Amino acid sequence: MREISCEKITELVKNLCIEACCVVTKDMYEAFQKAKDSEKSPLGKDILGKLIENADIAKKEMMPICQDTGMSVVFVEIGQEVHIVGGGLEDAINKGIAEGYTQGYLRKSVVSDPLYDRVNSGDNTPAVIHTQIVEGDGFKIKVAPKGFGSENKGILKMLVPADGIEGVKKVFLEAVKYAGPNACPPLVIGVGIGGTMEKCAILAKKAAVRSVDSKNPNPKYAKLEEELLELANKTGVGPQGLGGVNTAVKVNVEVYATHIAGLPVCININCHAARHADGEL
Ligand code: SF4
Repeated sequence: MREISCEKITELVKNLCIEACCVVTKDMYEAFQKAKDSEKSPLGKDILGKLIENADIAKKEMMPICQDTGMSVVFVEIGQEVHIVGGGLEDAINKGIAEGYTQGYLRKSVVSDPLYDRVNSGDNTPAVIHTQIVEGDGFKIKVAPKGFGSENKGILKMLVPADGIEGVKKVFLEAVKYAGPNACPPLVIGVGIGGTMEKCAILAKKAAVRSVDSKNPNPKYAKLEEELLELANKTGVGPQGLGGVNTAVKVNVEVYATHIAGLPVCININCHAARHADGEL
């Protein structure tokens, strides 16, 4: 049994919060450059140039890419041979979030009660934590701060099998159009297909924080990713919603088995600040 201390987890999460909020990932930076080269609208091209400049300044000064440093979504993969020592896993992660957002001067955007009090929790906790137990003795973690300009534009629909691919495309386009300029395009769009209602939402989130360099390992779904990207870019929403051919830089699709009577579809939209930082212990 391999032991991992809570102290190490907290330290890692703290650093990942700061990195995710201040450093645009290499794949996303390259996607901005590619989008700038292909953009037909002069205003869109100019905006993409500014996003590149913004990314350069943020990295150099270690300042946030965007003022909305989001609610932290954390994906953890823990090997079944791992024993966490010195406290609880979720407490260790939340301590890391609190330290990262405080020491990194990142905006705290979480309210403890969603409906009545809506008082800021003061340290951006709690995070939304998804834990998966896997084989082995590894420990992998992904911290993905999520702004709500884009999060608010997600859609989940419980389609039926007869709706098929056309039904999936209809829900996808509905979400892209609903998002319009408010989700701060160019977007990375996560599409979850299958599972149950809650599984489908998690699939979409996983897809939204997957690298823009990646593609679904199943060629059919990889092709669907390309078709959906084309559909998004035909809407003409463009960079920052001011028109152009780069409404999205990538569509990622994640799938899971589902019931004979169902075809759940969820669209989770990520803005141009498609932040995520990965670490392992
Ligand atoms: S949607 Fe994204 S880019 Fe827009 S304000 Fe929120 S975090 Fe920032």
